[in-house]
Amino acid sequence: MILSIESSCDDSSIAITRIEDKKLLFHKKISQDEEHAKYGGVVPELAARLHAITLPKILEETQPYFEALKAIAVTNEPGLSVSLVEGVSMAKALSVALHLPLLGINHLKGHICSLFIEEETRFPMDVLLVSGGHTQLLHVKSLEQIELLATTMDDSFGESFDKVGKMLGLPYPAGAIIETYAQKGDAKCFDFTIPLQGTSSSMLAFSYSGLKNQVRLCIEAQERMDEQILCDICASFQRVAVAHLMQKIKKAYQARKVEHFGVVGGASANLYLRGELERFCASKKAQLYTAKMAFCSDNAAMIGRCGVEAYQKGVFVSLEELKVRSSSKDIFYM
Ligand code: ATP
Ligand code: FE
Repeated sequence: MILSIESSCDDSSIAITRIEDKKLLFHKKISQDEEHAKYGGVVPELAARLHAITLPKILEETQPYFEALKAIAVTNEPGLSVSLVEGVSMAKALSVALHLPLLGINHLKGHICSLFIEEETRFPMDVLLVSGGHTQLLHVKSLEQIELLATTMDDSFGESFDKVGKMLGLPYPAGAIIETYAQKGDAKCFDFTIPLQGTSSSMLAFSYSGLKNQVRLCIEAQERMDEQILCDICASFQRVAVAHLMQKIKKAYQARKVEHFGVVGGASANLYLRGELERFCASKKAQLYTAKMAFCSDNAAMIGRCGVEAYQKGVFVSLEELKVRSSSKDIFYM
């Protein structure tokens, strides 16, 4: 079995995954959303302190599995350094105490593996990663060969939901709340412009800061803000945010083939986005893969699943080699 630890942002999570059949034997996650909501976003120092409290508590529950463990897998990049350090320190201590090898797991590869929890991996696959820190279109040949087809020039998809939520006075993180309000709103009420429509045909990129500003101006122009206007703004914003993703995805696959398409990351829980991706995949006769709702946002189950792949390839790291890194650009090849 593999014990996996995730602490890259504001979720403390530990899982136990059986190597032979990839079965998830234990999984627990404690989210810090409520604590950070008071400040309107994640406060790194607070996140680190909370990880130091919650990770040991979860670890205690995994003691019955200790004897059967073969390795410790931990997210070491990318993420908030002070948060990552908490999980990595715990992993190193466990490695020393239990004489177990270490596996350093890239968080983005972890999100990709959220599609394969208790299942075999299936590559090559094209993957849209939409999370709090990333908006990336990837061609994943294998976990070692990932091609970056497009990324954002500024804010990420999830981040734009959080920032629009903040402007509307909604708690952090606002993604799921905006989606709920959007379901009761008129998506055509406000005519926001889809970002980057006029850019040259060779350019494939995302941008969300301009749309965020359009929404800000719209909010400022309202004489009053009642529940219906709030719902209409959420619906109109969500429609355009997703339309931007879909326009660029369609452009990407004008010249490329796509047979298997996955969507991962916290914002992949969005049902409107899933619906649009379903339609796109149907038009291309491609298969859409989604993670279970519980495994869209950060969790240790996806890190454990990625850990099984790393274990089977034997890519262990020493105590000295296992380092925390806030970014991870070098996972891509061109
Ligand atoms: P990264 O994985 O890039 O390092 P992260 O781990 O902080 O970032 P995740 O936990 O994967 O991000 O995703 C959190 C983000 O997903 C938040 O921005 C949140 O608002 C967004 N999100 C969650 N649910 C929804 C939803 N239903 N619709 C839109 N966005 C959502
Ligand atoms: Fe994440």
